[in-house]
Amino acid sequence: MSLDAITFDLDDTLWHNGPVMAHAEPTHYQWLGEQIDALKIVSTPLAEAFPLEAYQRHRQALMRRFPLQRGDHSWIRERAMFEILVEHGLPRTEAERWAAAGFEQFMALRHTITPYPEVAPMFEAWARRYRLGIITNGNVDVRRLSLDHHFDAIILAGEMHAPKPDSRPFLSALARLGAQPYRALHVGDSWEEDVLPAQRLGMHAVWIDAKDEGERELPPRVTRVTHVRELPGIVAQLDRRQT
Ligand SMILES: [Mg+2]
Repeated sequence: MSLDAITFDLDDTLWHNGPVMAHAEPTHYQWLGEQIDALKIVSTPLAEAFPLEAYQRHRQALMRRFPLQRGDHSWIRERAMFEILVEHGLPRTEAERWAAAGFEQFMALRHTITPYPEVAPMFEAWARRYRLGIITNGNVDVRRLSLDHHFDAIILAGEMHAPKPDSRPFLSALARLGAQPYRALHVGDSWEEDVLPAQRLGMHAVWIDAKDEGERELPPRVTRVTHVRELPGIVAQLDRRQT
């Protein structure tokens, strides 16, 4: 068989995301607290009235209240900050303004990402040979990482209200790339959200087992690796034109 298109998950596939989020999560909220306390509209510090855990619980509650938007992490985060600030006693216009500023802080921290060193050369080499796409549930803007020029389709599944494992973002990517499922490969770290939905559609799938969950019985067309650097070998095997 020959391969026409390759789609990629982002977080924990092209970079190690844990440390990025572990830093971004408390840091932007602390920043927000400092700004709000400095306004002196409310005497109780924000972190005392609404500690980080309250903000996280509020986001969970929003996902239950707005199930369609549960995958739109940007909307959930900004909305949670807005509602907390209103409850904290800020006028709605101020709350809106500071929620937007807090979200900007978060996004700046969210993008302090270093893709694995193998990633850029891999895309350089493949962009000439394959149509490349991104399918992500997250809110990383690949334009901010200077990686976007390699991709013919960038699907933000959460923002289309159909987060993976929904099949729609995969179908949408295949349509935009003009690829048949059996001539396309999806690469991702999540068994449930990347591997299974792609495999069910007839795509090939590479499971980046970054957390080293271990060997398991693999359905047809699925390959397990532990790091993206192993991909070129797999792609060469899948694509007979390369041999
Ligand atoms: Mg991922």
